[in-house]
Amino acid sequence: MQSIALYLHIPFCETKCPYCDFNTYAKIESLIPAYVSALRNEIVAWGQILDHPDVKTIFFGGGTPSYLPPPELVRVVEAIRTSFHVDPTAEITLEANPGDFDRGNLATYLDCGFNRISIGVQSLDDTLLSMLGRRHTADDAISAFQMASGAGFENVSIDLMYGLPYQTIEQWETTLKRALDLGPPHISMYALTLEGGTPMEQWVKNGQLPEPSADLAADMYIKAQGMFGRSGYAHYEISNWALPGFESHHNLVYWQNESYLGVGPGAHSYLQHHRFSNLKPPREYVQKLKEPLAVHGAENKAAIESMPVVAEIEHIDTQLEMAETMILGLRLDQGIDVKKFVSRFDNSPFCVYENIISDGLRKGLLKTTDGTISLTNKGRLLSNEIFSQFF
Ligand code: SF4
Repeated sequence: MQSIALYLHIPFCETKCPYCDFNTYAKIESLIPAYVSALRNEIVAWGQILDHPDVKTIFFGGGTPSYLPPPELVRVVEAIRTSFHVDPTAEITLEANPGDFDRGNLATYLDCGFNRISIGVQSLDDTLLSMLGRRHTADDAISAFQMASGAGFENVSIDLMYGLPYQTIEQWETTLKRALDLGPPHISMYALTLEGGTPMEQWVKNGQLPEPSADLAADMYIKAQGMFGRSGYAHYEISNWALPGFESHHNLVYWQNESYLGVGPGAHSYLQHHRFSNLKPPREYVQKLKEPLAVHGAENKAAIESMPVVAEIEHIDTQLEMAETMILGLRLDQGIDVKKFVSRFDNSPFCVYENIISDGLRKGLLKTTDGTISLTNKGRLLSNEIFSQFF
């Protein structure tokens, strides 16, 4: 099979941030050793089922992967290296929270092959960090970045959040300036979403926090776009900026709608025309993977169904695959490569989506350049409305 991207879900956090609805938990640290054993069993089983495929990117996300004790992280990496062919040039990313690592941990990460670190900075304003329930200060985040760079990580990404309750455009500009002073090779930027069932959604509902303004969030996005652009960053995806050569290879696999395998509770995969996801509760996951699995190579759905932790499987037919390829590809600055689309589907996007594309071009939301279809700046701000039309 083609080479794949590998995602590992680490469902542990020291505390749960009030806006977060990810599948991650605080105060279950006692589960870590059993969890790592279960994760190793899942990795080994997939290695056998898929016949040790080539892996071109690895991403440890969560949760907080940097919260795992380094020896446990090493056990996971060992299982990956014995079960898959990891490309020597593979991008291997660890998500980290400021304050979770020190120089010793960083040396271990480098030793076991991590070459990219993604730090959850979120803001460089202490008042907003405290409102977000983050455990770190702006100075902690800056030190974490400097420590990772100083230890030898050339590829360090930072995450920033905007559109926060109480956040002013001036505070945002100060955070952007301080972030740019660090010179991170990669920046991801996300608007706060008030997810159903989170404490923060409740606080906004009952008036304890003001509802963030969508117009102000759009102004913040435009402000960042201008400042990053003037500082030499390419806006290569709707929410991501990179200095030349530092685009996230792992996320590009998602946006190009290529194959990936996700392991760990709640992890999603897309393999052999099927999208599937694992059950979410970590304890149940550990229970089902207590022992090594006796599995054999198998084809398509049978292989996926043979995994005891897979909870949902969806067959992706060609219509859906084309629509998803359009939506994901349009997130990228480079857009859809028409020739690649034709060679993958034996059909042109101009034929399949004639009305949507001509409408988008007429309204100035889409543009066509050098055999590609991409969003204009105006289209980026209205991307969700455009994307919904492909279904
Ligand atoms: S650290 Fe990240 S994953 Fe953990 S609770 Fe906070 S936002 Fe969620």
